[in-house]
Amino acid sequence: MYQKPEQQPEVDGLGRLSDPQAEKDFQRAKLPHTRRRLRFVCAITALAYLGAAYADSLEISGPDLNLLLAARCLTALAGLVPFILTFREKTGSGDMGMAAGVYMAILMATESLELYLKADVFIMGGTPITAFIVLTFYLFQPPQIWQSIISGGLGSVAYLATLALFTDAPPGYVANSFLVFALANGFGLYFCIRFGAAQRREHVALTELKRKAETDALTGLLNRRRVTELCEREFEAAKRYGHPCSLLLMDIDHFKDVNDSSGHAAGDAVLVALSERISRILRVVDIFGRIGGEEFAILMPHATREQALSAAERIRKTVGDLPFEFDGVSLNVTISIGVSSLISEADTMDLLYRQADDALYAAKRCGRNGVHF
Ligand code: GH3
Ligand code: MG
Ligand code: MG
Repeated sequence: MYQKPEQQPEVDGLGRLSDPQAEKDFQRAKLPHTRRRLRFVCAITALAYLGAAYADSLEISGPDLNLLLAARCLTALAGLVPFILTFREKTGSGDMGMAAGVYMAILMATESLELYLKADVFIMGGTPITAFIVLTFYLFQPPQIWQSIISGGLGSVAYLATLALFTDAPPGYVANSFLVFALANGFGLYFCIRFGAAQRREHVALTELKRKAETDALTGLLNRRRVTELCEREFEAAKRYGHPCSLLLMDIDHFKDVNDSSGHAAGDAVLVALSERISRILRVVDIFGRIGGEEFAILMPHATREQALSAAERIRKTVGDLPFEFDGVSLNVTISIGVSSLISEADTMDLLYRQADDALYAAKRCGRNGVHF
């Protein structure tokens, strides 16, 4: 059956995914990296900020020094907030970004205060260092651009205003500083947008690749590889914790006849509709996949043999009791189901599969449209 390729999420002008849900998924996927990066930058900058108090003590004294030391401590404490948040499992990227943005804003305010308090002993090294801090925050922020723009931009304006209004810095130096901050914000922003966009495109491509590698293109069910992986995992968990676990193998009866009499497109439509019909009556924990042309597998965690047999019976009826409609034609389709269950500790997934397969063939031999174990 022909299926239109799905539309991929687009990246907007700020390098974010225009689909909010896709953006959320991206932020969530990047959370471990975001945590590590933010932890690193907060720790380094807060420590450096406290360390700079030594230089303060050489340059100013008295109440001015005390005020600046208090501001430095406050800034370091503000840096502690996003740092601590990175260790909380529940904290999302948005909250971390907000805390980092507030930290940056406080840090920039302290930079301006330092400039103001040291106006008399002003040294020209202040501007490049502060602009470097602005750039650093753009590079290390969580992938949320507005916090960087607001705190980086406003912080830079505050710093430049202090420089122009409260110090004796020569006009040429002020003009140069303006240029340095413009470059720091411009490069930072450019990097944020371009790198963010590249990361998101890569994430979208990888997610799509993973989805394609795990799903069956026609029915959208899990494919054989993924079903096998998940079944192994569930089976091992059931064995370890002593839970029951059952496997159903299903095969459409005389499916060749559907193709031969109504065409391949009708056969495809039946495969799709049948998958949907069965999916609707399964539990979310059941692992349902297409393992071959018209063959399907369902692993039912926690299901005993009796429960699996009655579920199989329900599935058989769901398929067989109501015909499938295609192009105005009613198609009567039935399925045969083989069931096997985890009985002893020595059982393997391989054995479970073979037992279900034997049961399926027994169901076929007994006239089809039936359930066997
Ligand atoms: P049985 O009751 O013994 O299972 O008979 P059957 O005809 O279903 O079994 P057989 O294995 O002989 O035929 C399976 C058919 O399924 C053959 C193939 O054309 C068809 N088939 C497999 N994959 C697809 C598919 O993706 N689309 C369509 N339309 N048909 C498919
Ligand atoms: Mg078959
Ligand atoms: Mg068949």
